[in-house]
Amino acid sequence: MKLIDGKAIARKIQEETRASVEALKAVGHTPGLAVVLVGADPASQAYVRSKDKMCQELGMFSIKRELPADTSQEALIELVRELNADPRVHGILIQSPPPAHINERAVVEAIDPRKDVDGFHPINVAKVALGDADAFVPCTPLGCQRLLVESGVETAGAHVVVLGRSMIVGKPMALLLMQKGLGGDATVTVAHSRTRDLAAVCRSADILIAAIGRAEFVKADFVKEGAVVIDVGINRVADPTSPKGSKLVGDVAFDEVAPKCAAITPVPGGVGPMTIAMLMHNTVLACRRLNSMS
Ligand code: NDP
Repeated sequence: MKLIDGKAIARKIQEETRASVEALKAVGHTPGLAVVLVGADPASQAYVRSKDKMCQELGMFSIKRELPADTSQEALIELVRELNADPRVHGILIQSPPPAHINERAVVEAIDPRKDVDGFHPINVAKVALGDADAFVPCTPLGCQRLLVESGVETAGAHVVVLGRSMIVGKPMALLLMQKGLGGDATVTVAHSRTRDLAAVCRSADILIAAIGRAEFVKADFVKEGAVVIDVGINRVADPTSPKGSKLVGDVAFDEVAPKCAAITPVPGGVGPMTIAMLMHNTVLACRRLNSMS
């Protein structure tokens, strides 16, 4: 069994990004990312902090805006418009999930699609579906695809089961895998909460990508001997042995599944670091595109 080291692969991508940032700065363009958080959810605050820190580590410009939980939708959209017009900002990210009174879709639609580094704007969703080269691809599925490519896992002709059909992970993941070319050309099945005999469907996968948000849901009987498993899930569960009283686990029951796998990602240290690496990659891409450099 090979452990796919997401941290190491993410570090390699960050180094490529750092070189791109230096090259852009040398010609007068500093890639910039604005991250907006509404409310004080601790997990979201931690994500926002790590994105801001990574921008600084890579020499990028960053704006972190933390707004109170009662911020109105109009005020949030007004901020998005300001960021759309700010020439220092090439990427805009609204940390999800916003408070319930905010219509997330309306806010995402206010983002200039050329600055939509999360790839959630309908224009980018359509471009991913069309296979357009200038789409912004959502960071988590893009990171999963890159993990497979970097780990030498052949997707062409493989049967991939994507477990989960969200707009953030499952659906774009399936689209990427069925596209022609490197990291694509797969035969894709998308499974979800209404799938009949889920374990049998998953067991037919050469590559299983789990993104359902259920702690350790995928057991050994979901996995074929010799399969590759990518675990997207991040779930906090109680752990009396840890000083914090909790720990992070994936959607896969790692201990029982790993011995059956040809390769598997751990949680943490698998998909998570790739998501942020791809966000930085997309921001550099946005900077190039906005300056007509690619
Ligand atoms: P969503 O809740 O938006 O979607 C979950 C999907 O899983 C849905 O399609 C749902 O089916 C399906 N599902 C839920 N329960 C079951 C079940 N019992 N059997 C079969 N299918 C089920 O989650 P996300 O896609 O946003 O996130 C999934 C996981 O990935 C979460 O743990 C999240 O924390 C993690 N994540 C990790 C990231 C990273 O950087 N590593 C980034 C983004 C997410 P249905 O549509 O039928 O309801």
